[in-house]
Amino acid sequence: MELINGKEIQELTFKEITNDVASLREKGVEPCLAVIIVGSDPASRVYVNNKKKACERVGIKSLEYALPEETTTDELLDLIRKLNADDSVNGILCQLPVPKQINKQAVLDTISPEKDVDCFHPVNVGKLSLGRAELLPCTPAGVIRMLDVAGVEIEGKRAVVIGRSDIVGKPMGIMLMERNATVTVCHSKTRDLSSITKQADILVCTVGKPKLVTSDMVKEGAVVIDVGINRNGEGKLCGDVDFDDVAPHCSKITPVPGGVGPMTITMLMKNTVTAARNQNNIK
Ligand code: NAD
Repeated sequence: MELINGKEIQELTFKEITNDVASLREKGVEPCLAVIIVGSDPASRVYVNNKKKACERVGIKSLEYALPEETTTDELLDLIRKLNADDSVNGILCQLPVPKQINKQAVLDTISPEKDVDCFHPVNVGKLSLGRAELLPCTPAGVIRMLDVAGVEIEGKRAVVIGRSDIVGKPMGIMLMERNATVTVCHSKTRDLSSITKQADILVCTVGKPKLVTSDMVKEGAVVIDVGINRNGEGKLCGDVDFDDVAPHCSKITPVPGGVGPMTITMLMKNTVTAARNQNNIK
């Protein structure tokens, strides 16, 4: 069994992105990401700080817009429209969740698709399903990157995704299909889950339930990717996969923490560079 190390793949990818940013700067383009945070949710604050740090790390300029808890949808949409119109801003994201008075869908729909580095806009989701994506959903793109760096062949393989969320499970299924895997997406209403997961050469789990995946659900030699981020009974971070039970049966597996987690922010940086390139017609 081999561990797929998200921190190492993040480092490798950050180096490539740093080079890409440097070559854009030589052409007079300074990639810039605008991050909006509404209210004072402590977890959101940590995520936003991490995004700013990642920008610094690769040389992307970051702008933060911290709005008060009582911000209205109209006020937030006004800011987004201003950022959409600002040519010096290449990427825009609004940290979720937003306070309940705000119409989240209106927010996501208002961010210009060209600047939608989270890839939540319906136009970008549509492009993804048509195989015409420019910006990719960060977490599933991070999983594909991990599989590629780890040398896992995807084409022709049987891939099973557990979870069908709009941000991970669904786009993950599409991206694996795009790479010529034969894909099954399972969810909370799936019957006899283990009979399906046992067929997987590549098993991706994105549910949010500790120890959902046990060794009796995994084919010998499978590659297992654990997207889940949970706290166990002792308050320690864990994934959806019962790691100690499953790992001995895998050819490769991602740990939690230190697996998929670091890749999401990495691919956000990559999307920001792609957006800057596209907006400046640079190949
Ligand atoms: P979600 O919470 O929106 O939905 C969970 C999905 O799991 C649903 O599609 C549901 O049908 C399915 N499900 C629930 N119970 C199930 C069961 N018993 N069997 C099979 N399927 C079941 O999903 P999400 O937003 O993809 O988040 C899932 C987990 O991934 C969470 O722990 C979240 O914190 C984590 N996550 C991690 C990253 C990362 O960067 N590593 C990014 C996003 C989400």
